Amino acid sequence: MGVPERLAEPDDTKFLARTDRRHLYSVPMSTGEAAPAPPTTPWQATMWTCSLCGHCNLTGEQCEACGVARRYLDDPPLDVPFTPRLTDLSSFWIGLMWGVAALGGTFALLSPTLRDTIGPVFLLLEVFAAGAAFVSSMFTAAWERIFNQIELQVPPHAAAGSVFQARLKLVPYSVVENVTVKFSLSDRFYQDKGNEVELKTKRLDANRVLQRGRLPGRRMTDLSAEFMAPFPMTKHTHMQAELNASFLSVLSLFVPSLKFSAKNVKEHGGYYVEAYVRVGLLSRRYHKRVFTYAIGNQVHIG
Ligand SMILES: [Zn+2]
Repeated sequence: MGVPERLAEPDDTKFLARTDRRHLYSVPMSTGEAAPAPPTTPWQATMWTCSLCGHCNLTGEQCEACGVARRYLDDPPLDVPFTPRLTDLSSFWIGLMWGVAALGGTFALLSPTLRDTIGPVFLLLEVFAAGAAFVSSMFTAAWERIFNQIELQVPPHAAAGSVFQARLKLVPYSVVENVTVKFSLSDRFYQDKGNEVELKTKRLDANRVLQRGRLPGRRMTDLSAEFMAPFPMTKHTHMQAELNASFLSVLSLFVPSLKFSAKNVKEHGGYYVEAYVRVGLLSRRYHKRVFTYAIGNQVHIG
């Protein structure tokens, strides 16, 4: 592959530099302040240097020395792998395993002797659970075949009342149509109700940034939304919830799926930015916490 490896991890400054360069050549620069200067001579305006071979081209949309299209150099594809095969994804194999388990359960349900030996209630639950795990694993596999990378970026903290930016970077393997992206900011807090702790979520703001849009393949699409950091006044920690979480994490040594429940309980409180991404029938949610603070007579953090 001749594309230099700097493309493997694109950083914004390089993209910016490239955009600037384009402007430099395409926009006629005015030198005087009153009368707009006559546009530069055509050969100057269209002059560009090939970044692959260094040849200075006077005109044309293709490098005279190496034949690479200028358009391709201005917006090169990222050096990401191509769409993985289903069989390369562990989620596919795990899904397949659950599918077999669901089929086995169905088969046992249909056979009178097996049904009576194992018990119909247990079998029904087994088929239901395995079926659900099968569907969710297959959805995961399908999702992993669309996106090479999805990353939600949120500043770790923001002063109350200030505006902060949430960004979502998406790199699909190929062109994706029908993409919807929504950002939202939620407050997840604890509310005491007698002896019980109640976990509540309140949506503070939402912003739809893409509606049935199209993402270019093997390019990075950068979407962003701005939110106002709220004053931290709700309760984001709770002793009992922390204790429940540690208890669950001990149990999770024996039941792996409880690890997620523990994590959920532990991480519930706080201000969270959510990015909701939908492609056709598939959808995913990405969350990141942002701490807000206010410094007055006291320091408030939440
Ligand atoms: Zn060239």
